[in-house]
Amino acid sequence: MARLFDSVRYLKGVGEARARTFASLGIETLYDLISYFPRTYEDRSKIVPIAELQVDEPACFRAFVTSQPRTHHIRKGLDLTKLTVADETARLNLTFFNQSYVAGNLEYSREYYFYGSLNGDYMGYQITNPIFEPVEQPGVLTRRIMPIYPLTAGLHNNLISRTVQQALDACLEELPEVMPLQLRERYGLCDAPTAYRNIHAPASFEALAAARHRLIFEEFFIFSVGLSLLRSGRSRKQRQGYRLPPMAEFEAALPFSLTGAQRRAIDEIAGDLSGGSVMNRLVQGDVGSGKTVVAAAAAWITAKNGQQTALMAPTEILAEQHAKGLEALLGPLGVRVALLTGSMTPAQKRNVRAAIAAHEADLIVGTHALISEATDFSELGLVVADEQHRFGVAQRAALAEKGDDPHLLVMSATPIPRTLALILYGDLELSVIDELPPGRQNIDTFLVGEDKRARINAFIRRQVAEGHQVYIVCPAVEEGEDESLRSAEAWAETLQMAVFPDLRVALLHGRMKAAQKEQTMAAFARGEYDILVATTVIEVGVDVPNATLMVVENADRFGLSQLHQLRGRVGRGSDKSYCLLFSSNRNPETLTRLKALCKTNDGFEISRQDLALRGPGDFFGTRQHGLPAFKVGSLELDLQTLQDAQSAAAEFVSSEELPKRPEYQPLMERIQALFASGAPRGEA
Ligand code: ADP
Ligand code: MG
Repeated sequence: MARLFDSVRYLKGVGEARARTFASLGIETLYDLISYFPRTYEDRSKIVPIAELQVDEPACFRAFVTSQPRTHHIRKGLDLTKLTVADETARLNLTFFNQSYVAGNLEYSREYYFYGSLNGDYMGYQITNPIFEPVEQPGVLTRRIMPIYPLTAGLHNNLISRTVQQALDACLEELPEVMPLQLRERYGLCDAPTAYRNIHAPASFEALAAARHRLIFEEFFIFSVGLSLLRSGRSRKQRQGYRLPPMAEFEAALPFSLTGAQRRAIDEIAGDLSGGSVMNRLVQGDVGSGKTVVAAAAAWITAKNGQQTALMAPTEILAEQHAKGLEALLGPLGVRVALLTGSMTPAQKRNVRAAIAAHEADLIVGTHALISEATDFSELGLVVADEQHRFGVAQRAALAEKGDDPHLLVMSATPIPRTLALILYGDLELSVIDELPPGRQNIDTFLVGEDKRARINAFIRRQVAEGHQVYIVCPAVEEGEDESLRSAEAWAETLQMAVFPDLRVALLHGRMKAAQKEQTMAAFARGEYDILVATTVIEVGVDVPNATLMVVENADRFGLSQLHQLRGRVGRGSDKSYCLLFSSNRNPETLTRLKALCKTNDGFEISRQDLALRGPGDFFGTRQHGLPAFKVGSLELDLQTLQDAQSAAAEFVSSEELPKRPEYQPLMERIQALFASGAPRGEA
């Protein structure tokens, strides 16, 4: 009897080489193999009369071979085998390319099931390379719903399907049931063995739907229980509430007055901090809505209570900028700000770390890695993670482990609809900043083609002449295989040499040394460059109010939300700002996508469209949201199941002793595995 976690080598037909190929797909054990779900299915179950076959619609039909198969040698490397088949409705020509062995497998006057798709030209209709089986044989390749697996070189679909079947036969009985029985009954979920059988080899589409429903529910349930446990583990923790200093003192130090939404968010945070338990809050606000000052208020309250704040940014550029801005804001209020970045010398880092340990700094700004690694705080009271969508769920949990249960504030500009945010970040309280600082104007956005290049260059020149600055974003760093992509390096050079020899052009991309990146960014912020040619390293957070024009090259290569973030780099001051999207892509879908951006500046509206247009696969890529990837479920299509799973999870977790019972051990193991795999997200 095979065990669930035995190697796939146990299976017939899997030798060392094949095991290695499976391993490259992350499949090592029988359990891995049966958890490798089909990407889609082909309906080979319905039998269609030949006369009703449709061009380009693959279908299954039953027919007699009505001519002796003949193979013609056309030239070296090309053999054609031709024959005719017929049922009671019509005759049909079949052609096989380089499969002369079929001549031996298809016998004249015998009956077979075929599966293929009709193609036609002026010579008549035919089917090329159909799949076939004798009618007497069990339906392995025809007369069934065929699973189609994600493939890799060296593993064809039939092989995977056959091997999965073997694995199911060998180990299905041992599959632990992770779903509690009472939930299976309440939500009509089939048991685990049935679900695994039918996701791989569904007897009917109803059986497939039931299997999918069970597995989607399971996936969302595990995710939700995991999040709830994270939350309940933290929120039950008590903490001495902070004494709140008079907020008027803070507001008086600001160069502007707070918006209503900012004040509301700060109030909510102050309430958390002064309450008796650990804060776990997400501040969500569109680009430019002024989240930094909200974090500053939290850091100020924390400092006033004699504790330290760690503020983590996803990039060094952003960390540097935050340190400067917060120093200017909070320094006069007596908050000592320190910066910790990777480009500092080891001696500098040692000094800063010593100062942090000695509590000579109240607010420490740095990149995630630097703060979470070897840094010891004297008294860490608050952790702020900026642009939280760049961090994974697991990373967030790891942060919370730093220090003695610090308060946690995460900030995100990823504009996802509020209902969805509540669902996804169910483990966080939510503050929404749904109001922009006054005086902000819409950023006029235009989709332009190469024919406008000269006019755009003149426009860039005019912006610079008026004393403003310009960003130009390219999809690639250097010239690569894809010649249609503009590269930042080459384009910066062209612009400086040939187009704007009299202007100051700078280059910024992720492959530059950190120190060099910072210098360039700082010089641009000081107005020492007119034009910054960059990659998406400037996507998040960068704040240079004097920049009024954002030009995006090959705009079709970026997602809507990403373009919206990029556009958010301008319009940060009081001057009229513009965004120009270059694209020569005429694909109607792409045009719809880009035009959506020209029509609105509302990030939430854009995210709704993005979600609708691209589907959740892209939109909720782990990279964007730091969520574990769902294998079967879709956050867009299976929202109802997600909600059911969530309420089931909440109930399950709240019934104290339940999760601790031994029968839920498999469930707890799955949760641990899911949250352990949330790898850190890299920088673009
Ligand atoms: P984001 O939410 O994108 O992080 P920032 O915190 O960087 O936004 O703020 C964007 C810009 O708006 C900054 O230049 C900031 O100084 C300014 N700002 C923030 N709040 C206000 C306000 N209430 N009134 C005017 N300007 C503000
Ligand atoms: Mg920001």
